[in-house]
Amino acid sequence: MPSAEDICAHEGDNPSRWLGAVSTPIFQTSLFSHRDHDSGYNYTRSANPTVEAAEAKIAALEGAERAACFSSGMGAISSAILHFVRAGSRVVAHRNIYGPARNFLSAYLSRFGVETVFVSGNDAASFSAAMNTHTSLVYLESPTTFLFLAQDIRGIAAAARARGAATVIDNTWATPLYQKPLALGADLSVHSASKYLGGHSDIVAGAIAGKAELVESIVRSERDHLGACMDPHQAWLLTRGLRTLPLRMERHSENAHIVAAFLEGHEMVERLYWPGAATYPDQAIVEAQMTGYSSVLSFVPRFPLERVGAFLSALKLLEVGPSWGGFESLAIAPGIFMDDSVMAELGLPRNLIRIAVGLESASSITEDLDDALRAAVASPPLVLGVKGTKNA
Ligand SMILES: *Cc1c(COP(=O)(O)O)cnc(C)c1O
Repeated sequence: MPSAEDICAHEGDNPSRWLGAVSTPIFQTSLFSHRDHDSGYNYTRSANPTVEAAEAKIAALEGAERAACFSSGMGAISSAILHFVRAGSRVVAHRNIYGPARNFLSAYLSRFGVETVFVSGNDAASFSAAMNTHTSLVYLESPTTFLFLAQDIRGIAAAARARGAATVIDNTWATPLYQKPLALGADLSVHSASKYLGGHSDIVAGAIAGKAELVESIVRSERDHLGACMDPHQAWLLTRGLRTLPLRMERHSENAHIVAAFLEGHEMVERLYWPGAATYPDQAIVEAQMTGYSSVLSFVPRFPLERVGAFLSALKLLEVGPSWGGFESLAIAPGIFMDDSVMAELGLPRNLIRIAVGLESASSITEDLDDALRAAVASPPLVLGVKGTKNA
């Protein structure tokens, strides 16, 4: 099997086909004319050579027969979910999946007679207990992105298969470098390529990977019908990002180890959530199914939510905002914009702070965190305003 480095450098690029261009050109065209010859391409919503170059790399990285790109992670996720449900279906999903995916399942699909049961356990028994004869889909996200809860992918996928249900997993946090869900029995691995795969905080993009027949079928039905196709320019930026994925992940992971150790030893930190930490509760699960740990982590400070705003404002190097997986370090506190009832339902500590560790020097990141932690304690507590409902 080719290495991830070789895949990212060369898979799907075809210089002899494109006048020797080592970088697949941007075919910024909506249609392909058939007057003089038939290239096999027809219309960019269905297929485009620049998009296919990105798809080839993602498929090879996932060890999949085929991958397909989408205009966003949510485009990929909603298309994948819709493929497996019809009126009367039951979906069994992990409780802590990405917020908009959770809303799509609970608030949106319920309009069409699709029921979702959310599970907080991490093993086959907890998921089996929630399945009934109408269960057509099990939807996982391992690790999840606020508390990094892991699920036993192999066991849960086998339990789903035994009942005739498919397993789809959001593999965004781990990336295909650190976790290959298809080899563990999942039917489809889905990604927000807006995060590490793109890696430069300059695109919103998504992808799915799995068996050729399944991915083709989703391309021909959900992607073509709903139209969440990838733009060629977006695909070119994604391919450009993918070329350095192994290099970037190595640094992200190295920096995360340093920042995690720093936070774990900090007097103003009560608890760290990160799969690479010695105190991580699902260690046996992640060790069995992951080969590395990426760089988004959370911690509970020894000060209340009322001082978390002061912590965020005191940061000088880290940006404050949603998303992650780019070059830049970021911080966000869900308690500032999420309702307390939702936080409680998801098991999120009220004053939780999430850090996306970027590619800056680790010492600059830890210094900035240290200064901000001290500034938060020295500041007067703030009165919180009305909370909104922003995504994170
Ligand atoms: C960002 C994200 C998504 C959604 O992806 P978009 O590209 O923003 O649509 C899905 N899952 C996870 C885990 C994410 O972090």
